[in-house]
Amino acid sequence: MSGNLFDLIRGRIPSSAATFIETGDGRRITYGEMLDQTGRLANILVLHGVEPGDRVAVQVEKTPQALMLYLATLRAGGVYLPLNTAYTLTELEYFIGDAQPALVVGDPAKREGLERLAGRYGVHSIDTLDAKGEGSLSDAMRRAPSDFADVPREENDLAAILYTSGTTGRSKGAMLSHRNLSSNALALVETWRFTGVDVLLHALPIYHTHGLFVATNTVMLVGGSMIFLPKFDADEVIRLLPRATAMMGVPTFYTRLLQHTKLSRDACAHMRLFISGSAPLLAETHREFLARTGHAILERYGMTETSMNTSNPYEGERIAGTVGFPLPGVELRIADSETGKVLPPGEIGVIEVRGPNVFSGYWRMPEKNQTEFRADGFFITGDIGKIDERGYVHIVGRSKDLIITGGFNVYPKEIETEIDALPGVIESAVIGVPHPDLGEGVTAVVVAAGNATLSEQGILAGLGERLAKFKLPKRVLFADDLPRNTMGKVQKNVLRETHAGLYAQAKALSGQVGTGSP
Ligand code: AMP
Repeated sequence: MSGNLFDLIRGRIPSSAATFIETGDGRRITYGEMLDQTGRLANILVLHGVEPGDRVAVQVEKTPQALMLYLATLRAGGVYLPLNTAYTLTELEYFIGDAQPALVVGDPAKREGLERLAGRYGVHSIDTLDAKGEGSLSDAMRRAPSDFADVPREENDLAAILYTSGTTGRSKGAMLSHRNLSSNALALVETWRFTGVDVLLHALPIYHTHGLFVATNTVMLVGGSMIFLPKFDADEVIRLLPRATAMMGVPTFYTRLLQHTKLSRDACAHMRLFISGSAPLLAETHREFLARTGHAILERYGMTETSMNTSNPYEGERIAGTVGFPLPGVELRIADSETGKVLPPGEIGVIEVRGPNVFSGYWRMPEKNQTEFRADGFFITGDIGKIDERGYVHIVGRSKDLIITGGFNVYPKEIETEIDALPGVIESAVIGVPHPDLGEGVTAVVVAAGNATLSEQGILAGLGERLAKFKLPKRVLFADDLPRNTMGKVQKNVLRETHAGLYAQAKALSGQVGTGSP
């Protein structure tokens, strides 16, 4: 067996007749069909000039075919590079220019724009796949042979690059090896007690580590199955719960399920586990869910760069407001963010992690790899937390001013740059403000030039063409100036306090849900 993650997956297939995926409308795809389809796709990748180590960039809607493309990339020895479906062509240009993929697979509607980018950045081929799983790729699949000899890989070879936005502008490509992914999936199987009889209700997007790696790798390493939904829909989830045994979600899934009249103990009688992550789960949500269903949601913590780091226990107390203990093989410590000195239990500092799960660095950013790792190999996560006397890890904040809205990560700097470029704007600050449905609502505070007549609608219209919908501010407020400290830094904490009640009355069920984060 080589270090290729697919070898491990293949070795754990129970039988070719076993169910791999069920769709919401009852279609069934077996493991045998998965091998057939991924073999065909791997042949197409090779035909398109994808060589071992080449990037395959994919921006497509969630379908079983899209998942097959991930697996086919592993089989062909390529490096899978999923992209958020909300990204505009303007945003895609950066990723394609930076990653220089051999092949880009996108929505048929974007074909022309992608071809222009391909010409500019030396991409060999473009293929398409739509929300129904149709496109040039599926046409080619029907003609391609299914036999394919998997390309052996070393365990430290790259399996994927996942971009995570940076607070200071450029997105960073986290390089994940076959070992990073396989070690983490094995640790999760053990911690969460997954077995071949598990049926995972899968409603997360698959361009992000949560829905792609945490969910699907864990299921495949036990030969289990998934009910694969194109997106989260509370009615659909409630309808399908009696066929599932486990669900992974972002906190917004749980707040929305709690708003559903049909969420009950009976509806969850067949379930053994509800898992939450990607953003903090409110203790109140945890309590309400337990009262309504009898299930204590199991909260865990991870990030794109490290996959999963900690989890509340399967057996033992799942404590709301904590993210539990380090996973097997993962070392976690709290350090002083300035000096790097390791802090004793109870003290708050930056969370640092080391282990086979931790990525090897950022794609073509050697300078970042110097500053974000300690000399002894620990990765500085940027999350601020503490370890309590019982060993549970608590996250108390984020050192980077990341906003997590409906599970999507939004980096204020990117929005501020776009707002500041609009005529009549002097400066802006973008903050996350507590939102009953989305966790945090993206909120912009704008300082206008004396003679400018700016409106909330005008600013939003100016941003609409340039930014993905989930990044658009829910509200744009105006101020005469921004609060600053003596060093001249904008005090976002002051802004967050001032506007803390902004969405208190906001209607639930507004905005979109995804996971932007694991
Ligand atoms: P991403 O880069 O999208 O993987 O986002 C990772 C970030 O999400 C982490 O660094 C944390 O700030 C946050 N995060 C993930 N899980 C949790 C959790 N259970 N509680 C609080 N924050 C979390």
